[in-house]
Amino acid sequence: MASIPYIDIHTHQVDSDPEILSIFNMNIGESKIELNKDQAYSKGIHPWDIEKLEIDSIDNYLEVLTADKNNIAIGEIGLDKLMDTDISIQEKVFIAQLQMAKLKQKPVIIHCVKSQEELLRIKQENDTGTAWVFHGYNKSLQLAKDLLKFGFFLSFGENLLRNEKLQSVFREIPLEKIFLETDDKQIDIRKIYQKAAEIKGIDIEVLKKQILLNYLKCF
Ligand SMILES: [Zn+2]
Repeated sequence: MASIPYIDIHTHQVDSDPEILSIFNMNIGESKIELNKDQAYSKGIHPWDIEKLEIDSIDNYLEVLTADKNNIAIGEIGLDKLMDTDISIQEKVFIAQLQMAKLKQKPVIIHCVKSQEELLRIKQENDTGTAWVFHGYNKSLQLAKDLLKFGFFLSFGENLLRNEKLQSVFREIPLEKIFLETDDKQIDIRKIYQKAAEIKGIDIEVLKKQILLNYLKCF
């Protein structure tokens, strides 16, 4: 029997390690050319990239994007109040993509900075019937609980290695609700798994199995 893969739910690196199953996050303007043919990827209009697109071309853009079978999620999408782009425009672009996610039944990978209240409201009003993965989770236990109540999955990255406060948050999150990721960091996902298993006090194989189940449930 093949062994259970490590799953990297959100990465900006092209990975060809046979032990790792990853979702490559493709930015606007990047193409599939360098990916091998079975590589799963997510793509979406990041709040940082809104200015690069014409608002009326968004629907078209999404239509073409979601038709590709390797595009297994829309993301990262969301809200970022540290950006200059007006929050109402960000919301509009975000919601357009949520509608497409609903139509095509694709999960979404969420980027959210300083906009948690808006995010929860938008999820209530625009649920997609698919999984929502909050990526790079790095906040309080209280917010984590709110997000769980709203049905989110939480994905943790390299901050888990050093940030003790985050480690204690992680300890409280049910295993059925977590993912792990490398994001844009030059780090091995196996290291993050190791730390995560240590924090939870479980065997790494148990963790791998549960994250695989989470993956199969969502994607
Ligand atoms: Zn990212």
